[in-house]
Amino acid sequence: MTLFREEQRICAVCGQANMQTVLRSTTALGSPDLDTRPPPLARMTLPLYIQCCPACGYCARDVSEAVPAVQNIVTQPEYQAQLHSEQFPYLANLFLCYHIIQQALDNYAEAGWAVVFAAWACDDAGPAFMTTAARLREKAVAFFTEARERSQAFAPSRAEEDALLADLLRRSGHFTAAQKAVEQGLAHSPDHTVQSILRFQHHLCRQHNPNVYTVQDALAWAERTNRPMKRKG
Ligand SMILES: [Zn+2]
Repeated sequence: MTLFREEQRICAVCGQANMQTVLRSTTALGSPDLDTRPPPLARMTLPLYIQCCPACGYCARDVSEAVPAVQNIVTQPEYQAQLHSEQFPYLANLFLCYHIIQQALDNYAEAGWAVVFAAWACDDAGPAFMTTAARLREKAVAFFTEARERSQAFAPSRAEEDALLADLLRRSGHFTAAQKAVEQGLAHSPDHTVQSILRFQHHLCRQHNPNVYTVQDALAWAERTNRPMKRKG
């Protein structure tokens, strides 16, 4: 069950009061996707990952909080153009505005995740945004690569970071690069689950398969392939 609550927020950028929907609790039914996207019902809460001030367009996880530098970013033409861009679904624009702020603050891991969320918003918007979603996954990889160079972690372990990179690369059609990420991840001796995910990614890359799969799909595949072959005779 998913519970919401309407709460008043005072925008930290323009000072206007506005109402925001806040998530109180939700339930995840099933297995997350390989890029960590939660299963139903939790996946329906994507719009609640981001708030937008209707007065000035400030996008944040909580619009009542901001560092001083944000005020200048929100008024920039690039930011306002993104907010009203017709090339992306409305929800993707909010995440992409948030990514502009995080990039300007040198938070590359957070900017990368904002772009991943924007890709999910495109996935939900239908086949017309399939190519846009793939381009956003490429963009997320670039941010996570930059994050790594700056020692900003974007997943709980190095192997899980590589598993995420492998999925973003595979889903955007970069199968050779995805396989490289898999090999790097396996070199970090991951636990059984992450190892199964990485090996499954490798298998999908060999098939040039860019489709969405869940962690449960990876575990079931690993289970099948690990089963010893029956000897004949
Ligand atoms: Zn505002």
